Amino acid sequence: MVLKYDLLAALFSVCAVFARSVSVPDSKSNPDSDSDSLSGPSLASRAYMIKGTKMTDLTGILWPGDVVWCLDSSDNKEHELILDMAEKSWKMWRDVIGDESVLEFAPVHDKKPECSKYRGKIDMLEIKLNNEKKILSYNGYVKGDNRLDFDLSATYGARTPLVNFAHELGHVFGLLHTHQQRRAWPSLLNLNCQNLGDYDRLKERGVDVDKICEDLDQQAAEANKFWAEHILPDSNVQNDVIEDDKFDWDSIMLYDSYAFAKPGTVALVKADGSHIPVNVKPSKGDGEAIRTLYPGEESSDYDSD
Ligand SMILES: [Zn+2]
Repeated sequence: MVLKYDLLAALFSVCAVFARSVSVPDSKSNPDSDSDSLSGPSLASRAYMIKGTKMTDLTGILWPGDVVWCLDSSDNKEHELILDMAEKSWKMWRDVIGDESVLEFAPVHDKKPECSKYRGKIDMLEIKLNNEKKILSYNGYVKGDNRLDFDLSATYGARTPLVNFAHELGHVFGLLHTHQQRRAWPSLLNLNCQNLGDYDRLKERGVDVDKICEDLDQQAAEANKFWAEHILPDSNVQNDVIEDDKFDWDSIMLYDSYAFAKPGTVALVKADGSHIPVNVKPSKGDGEAIRTLYPGEESSDYDSD
């Protein structure tokens, strides 16, 4: 596979980040979602996601209602493109989520969901296009600041914009990177540090990149803006429920081996050195994760009569 380095550079920002200065909205979600109880024994072994109503340094919370989206643009062509992409990627998610979930993803208007017309009236996911290969979203719901920055031309590996969009939707709904679960390291995953696209540049600058990888020190990677920050296990999220034999290798939230790698090389690999292929659609496990975060009416209702 031949990869273009300039396109890989897009990956620099293909990752969900979280601003620390947001306020926590009132909880309307189900009362037991504020803890590890979200992680049932079967699901927890496969998915990696937010903790429901609990804000962390890295994540927002569950969406309190439908994920209503708008496009921050008045351009008709852009609206057509995003309406099409949103519909197709939501269908991919629906296919694995099934009917037993309250989660809905819908435009604020059928034909031209323009943000400016609804801003301040409806709490929306604001999609904004750019030409800087910037693809960025939050993990979960962040009141008053839900946005998805997207570049329609950004592709990498064998992925397409549609796959990128579906991956970002996973973040928006509350899923984290499957490979960033701490307990997957080092038993399941390994990083070929020297193959990362910015390894040489940072090393020349005196950053001890080898030690960062060796220590799985995601915080140090982040501090040095080293791309390893998107691959190494999260330093500020605890997740101790994975079982080695149930890791979801099919997850759309799992990076393939070519992500962030120098052209012609692989970065993130399985512990035995084998490559991780590109997952082009949400997996069954991804669907199960969403059902757990957003269970259907029947499973979340409490009968008060
Ligand atoms: Zn991501």
